[in-house]
Amino acid sequence: MRLESFVSNNWQTGTGEGRSLVNPVSGETIAMADCTGIDFAKTTAYAHSVGVAELVKLSFAQRGELLKSIAGVLQDNREKYGEIARTNSGNTQMDAAVDIDGGIGTLKYYSRLAKQLGDATRLIEDERDQLARDPVFFAQHVWSTRPGIAFQINAYNFPSWGMWEKFSIALLAGVPSIIKPATATALLSHEMTRDVVAANVLPDGVLSLVCGSGNALLEHVAPMDSVAFTGSSDTGQLIAGQMASRAVGARLNIEADSVNATIIGPDVKPGTDLFDIAVREVGKALQVKAGQLCTNIRRVFVHSDNMAAFSEALAARVAKMTVGDPADEATRVGPLVNLTQRRDAEEKIAILMQECRQIAQAPLGEQAEASAFVAPIVLQCTDLASAHHVHETEVFGPCATLMAYDSVDRAASLANASGGALAISLFSNDDSVQDGVASAVLPWHGRLMLVDDTIGKAHTGHAIVMPQCVHGGPGRAGGGEELGGLRGLRFHMQRSAVQGCPAMLDRLSAHAAPARL
Ligand code: NAP
Repeated sequence: MRLESFVSNNWQTGTGEGRSLVNPVSGETIAMADCTGIDFAKTTAYAHSVGVAELVKLSFAQRGELLKSIAGVLQDNREKYGEIARTNSGNTQMDAAVDIDGGIGTLKYYSRLAKQLGDATRLIEDERDQLARDPVFFAQHVWSTRPGIAFQINAYNFPSWGMWEKFSIALLAGVPSIIKPATATALLSHEMTRDVVAANVLPDGVLSLVCGSGNALLEHVAPMDSVAFTGSSDTGQLIAGQMASRAVGARLNIEADSVNATIIGPDVKPGTDLFDIAVREVGKALQVKAGQLCTNIRRVFVHSDNMAAFSEALAARVAKMTVGDPADEATRVGPLVNLTQRRDAEEKIAILMQECRQIAQAPLGEQAEASAFVAPIVLQCTDLASAHHVHETEVFGPCATLMAYDSVDRAASLANASGGALAISLFSNDDSVQDGVASAVLPWHGRLMLVDDTIGKAHTGHAIVMPQCVHGGPGRAGGGEELGGLRGLRFHMQRSAVQGCPAMLDRLSAHAAPARL
């Protein structure tokens, strides 16, 4: 099978040999992707002219109806997608649900938000500032859609959610998307796009898909456009450099890798519910999507008094993890996505082993050379005073490192040593621990999840990105921000201060929905 690109309202095939997409269990090639020879100048011109013109005619509520229709199409084909996620990404049923249902859920969430904005096409902040001594001259801030296109470059681990979470907010803002999925797992994005195009639920030029390397795509970015990248720090920096040298002034959002942490408070003693909940959450980090989540827990800070019991409980959990072919219903941990990722994870584990010892590893039988399995592994850092790899090295797979601390302040400052991260969690019932950790870690993190007995098992999980909450993190994590309900619209809209008389500001407000982003 050859993946095609959907550009200028047509499916087109690249003329080169392309790169292969494999089944990570067998190593067998299941598809090829290539976009050589596709005219990106024409692709972007089409989206700029046709796509922008189509969306500008629609109100927020009408755009929301489009999102709802897409969600309906994907729901109708849901079963097929699970199978693709298994064969191309090595997903178990649960892994596939996180990606596929997460994508559909995000589309639905934004379609509901769109309803609240009604027939408006712009947003207005409600306060007016008086600018002259007499009440005749005022300023009000108005958000309007930027007449550009959204270039979206996605990572391999979420071929569904990664695509729809970016697309949803761009469409709601009234901006067409050109989506480039990561080649390794592009089959799911390709098939979903095929179904949406076949169902004819979107206006022309609103959704384009580029399957293949597409490195030349960004040469066509124009001033009102945006680029949203998700992937490794190295590629993120390359793209940031490329955008800076082109100096067109387009917006850039980077979601990069992140060495996330969880802190288990000193009050979380063995034998308590919270202790068991924390152990379970760290166990999930070694299991779900075989650890290939950008927000995953990589470092676990446990008070030294509780470390022995915590590592023992986690080791017992890991020993029971069934690693294998996701086609087998008993499997709880599938493979990484391909051999390149397996080798990368093994190399990074070897780097961590310079500062750690192994605490536990899940059983993994003989695996074929072409298979991409990595057995879930728990390490413990042996020399926290001098260790640095543990804070800097992201193993994009099922590996977590335990670290013992004696003071909560020290745990928080070590958690920050990753240089900026997407997500951190804290398990504690102690108010002073909660407040102290929150104050120390918030500037370094995009999201903090705090679990105590009042929340118990009701939390959504450390790694799970909720569309209501902003997703992104400072520093090494890229400095980007996505989702967050209506806050995500900021990236695709322009806030302008409008200065004038009250009558003119009243007329502007008539076509606007009140919102403070
Ligand atoms: P990657 O190798 O950096 O690739 C990411 C995307 O960039 C792919 O679509 C890739 O295309 C594309 N790309 C590579 N070079 C490019 C260039 N010169 N111009 C334009 N596009 C280019 O990352 P990955 O291996 O797919 O994903 C794993 C990493 O992503 C992990 O480090 C993980 O932490 C991070 N991640 C972060 C988040 C987040 O939200 N912060 C979410 C998920 C993953 P090809 O595939 O065609 O090469």
